[in-house]
Amino acid sequence: MRRTPFVLLVGLTLSACSPSVPVIPQPAPAEQTKASQDYTPWKAGLSKPVADPLYPQHGNPSIDVLHYALDLSWEPGTKLFTGTARLRLRAAADVPEIKLDLSTAMTVDAVTLDGVATTGSAADDNITVPAALAKDRYATLEIKYHGTPKPVPMPTHRSDAEDLGLTVTADGSLWTMQEPYGAFTWYPVNDHPSDKALYDINVTVPEGWSGVASGTPAGQTGNTFRYTSSDPVASYLTTLAVGQYTKETAKGPRDLPVTYWYVKGRDDAMMKMIRKTPEYLAWLEERFGPYPFPSAGVVIVPSESGMETQQMITLGTIKAARSADNDELWEDVMIHELAHHWFGDTVGPSTWIDVWLNEGWAMWVEFHWSNKRDGLSDKEWETWIRSRDAQLRAKSGPPGKPRADSFAESNVYYCPALMLHQIRKQIGDQAFFELGKAWAAFGKNTTQDRASFIDFVNKQTGRDFTSLINTWLDSPTTPK
Ligand SMILES: [Zn+2]
Repeated sequence: MRRTPFVLLVGLTLSACSPSVPVIPQPAPAEQTKASQDYTPWKAGLSKPVADPLYPQHGNPSIDVLHYALDLSWEPGTKLFTGTARLRLRAAADVPEIKLDLSTAMTVDAVTLDGVATTGSAADDNITVPAALAKDRYATLEIKYHGTPKPVPMPTHRSDAEDLGLTVTADGSLWTMQEPYGAFTWYPVNDHPSDKALYDINVTVPEGWSGVASGTPAGQTGNTFRYTSSDPVASYLTTLAVGQYTKETAKGPRDLPVTYWYVKGRDDAMMKMIRKTPEYLAWLEERFGPYPFPSAGVVIVPSESGMETQQMITLGTIKAARSADNDELWEDVMIHELAHHWFGDTVGPSTWIDVWLNEGWAMWVEFHWSNKRDGLSDKEWETWIRSRDAQLRAKSGPPGKPRADSFAESNVYYCPALMLHQIRKQIGDQAFFELGKAWAAFGKNTTQDRASFIDFVNKQTGRDFTSLINTWLDSPTTPK
């Protein structure tokens, strides 16, 4: 996520949401038959889910979703969102029931498990299907639902905070930002970064509108737009946008397909900087190795933030840049969100305790870009960021111990960027870029944490950075 806080400027009117009701009761299957389906096509979606220490109410560590097939449709006039979600999943432990995140603004219409009709009760932004599964039992769960999407508050004090989840604008468009959670506002999901999964997303929209989602564009049939993710995705890195978009395509390094979606008349000023995406990607590849996914893209939405949603960045129009005609801000945000594809997307944090692992790297890379452009020396920059670091630790605490009610405050951006800079000063530029490149390659399509990062850094550099990293992550004041 983008880091600079700006003034919140959102006043959305949402229509009343449907109350949640249990689906029509039907007899539960007398006996759950053994899963007959072959799940190997989705084995890249296997994960080791864990409970989140900060947001334990989201995600279920006993369920591992391998694949989501989402058929979604949106009617702007009536604000009716309709979905069919087919989840290929594994019980990661013996479970008495299948519990997933789903907004209670959505009404559940029908549920089947392995093709047999069952029930699903919705409460507290969860859906519970009364089916016991033994550990490592695979199952296919299909849920049909509808409603008007309703976002939820973001647990933060950031001045640019917006509600999380799928948002309906006054003109009937849709967009979403959902870190650390909020995917559950538009599909049934194990809404936690430790459970990455593969995705196929189909979005059906009215004539003249476009549906945009995370993943590789997989064609359009009539008014249905298709996207597929062959690399696993964390739920907070999925995106959905519907609007009257103009589409442009470009080629990145190594002929990488790049797609831009923007609204003419609204986003024109930004496009000058967004069209430089191939240049940004080439600059990043030179330092950190090949972009880790088969396509890239940007969808511009009326948000005040930007998000590194996988293969399709969700980029806000950002008031500060609009009002100051500040091209460089959009450029910095693009470098930041693209850098996350190496640091956050392909290798992500297991839990939100380690969000510094995402933001420290993305912030360091962003500074490396902007300092070179602005002619700021490393020494001048370090003097400046040390004073910021001191203020941020005093205000928000150390970056390795983020508070649940203060998600993504600036301390988890600036302080770990300065920590990475300490490692860089000790090993030099070449070894530092090798470290970043090797980390993204080592962690490809996985989740990691502080311990595995420290272990990796020590092995990669042949030195012991344990104390340096722990001190910079845990100290209430700026380390020397
Ligand atoms: Zn970020």
